[in-house]
Amino acid sequence: MKDFIAGLPKCELHLHIEGTLEPELKFELAARNGLELPYASVAEMRAAYTFDSLSSFLTIYYEGMKVLRTEPDFYDLATAYLTKAAEQNVRYAEIFFDPQAHTSRGVPFDVVIRGLRRALMDAHARLGVRAQLIMCFLRDFQAEYAMATLLESLPYKEWIAGVGLDSDEKGNPPRKFAAVYERARQEGYLLTMHCDVDQDDAVEHIRQAVEEIGVDRIDHGVNILEDQRLVELVLARGTGLTCCHDLQRLRHRVDEGRGHPQADGPGRAGDDQLRRPGLLRRLRAGEPHRPAGGAAARSRGAGSAPAQRLRDHLAAQAPQGCLSGRDRRLHLVTASPSG
Ligand SMILES: [Zn+2]
Repeated sequence: MKDFIAGLPKCELHLHIEGTLEPELKFELAARNGLELPYASVAEMRAAYTFDSLSSFLTIYYEGMKVLRTEPDFYDLATAYLTKAAEQNVRYAEIFFDPQAHTSRGVPFDVVIRGLRRALMDAHARLGVRAQLIMCFLRDFQAEYAMATLLESLPYKEWIAGVGLDSDEKGNPPRKFAAVYERARQEGYLLTMHCDVDQDDAVEHIRQAVEEIGVDRIDHGVNILEDQRLVELVLARGTGLTCCHDLQRLRHRVDEGRGHPQADGPGRAGDDQLRRPGLLRRLRAGEPHRPAGGAAARSRGAGSAPAQRLRDHLAAQAPQGCLSGRDRRLHLVTASPSG
């Protein structure tokens, strides 16, 4: 099973580059920048990478970024991910980055974007893996800060495929960023945003994203299944969804023995709808230290009935993995890195 998954060509459509920072590189960057880490060793740090809620996950996520200071740091971060991705036969990746997580602690925007861009170009030439950047705004910051970040990005917009919205959604609805998204659209950016699973007012947030903002894609967005009208709307528009299975599992406390809700059967009412053509799903999450396919490979014994179902499931998904939808959405997943 592991070899089968490893051999499948893949595209990674939901990955937060800062979340891929491995402890080894973190120690290396801390030493390079003369920073102290609150861990004595890589093993101790790895042991601390546990989370049982979105907020505890975000605490680890933001803490990890502090070692990223210079252009070579961002280059090394993205190069490490792309190297691992290429080894796992990822052919194409759309990579989220969070500029405000860096500019808010004094790292200039151009340091971030130049490091990431250089890594993407080198990985394309050296490894053949193509990747594009999606610039996320932190939704728990003010909309004005997001707008300022958007304006700061404009000299580099040829290097950025689209904009996204992440971090803590509670109390930070899509509507808060309507003006930012409108300006981003005018500037030619494609639009996506996170709509987290079972968030307060989850369905209303999805409705705002689809109807008021007019996003090209939704990240997570599983609660759309609670509103058939919205399901039909995104199907008609060809709006993609990038669902994060591990986060679903975290939220719904599906235990390891029961396995993956979509591989083994409906884990929640309406899950089968996510299989409908046109609703894009992804197979792995962009979490720290979880290589693509790793969770699936770990949770199944090769040759078991669930393994065969998972194998069939993955094989069925692979050819359509990149087909986000119609018209301009396709550009998000097929265009070569520009420039
Ligand atoms: Zn995400």
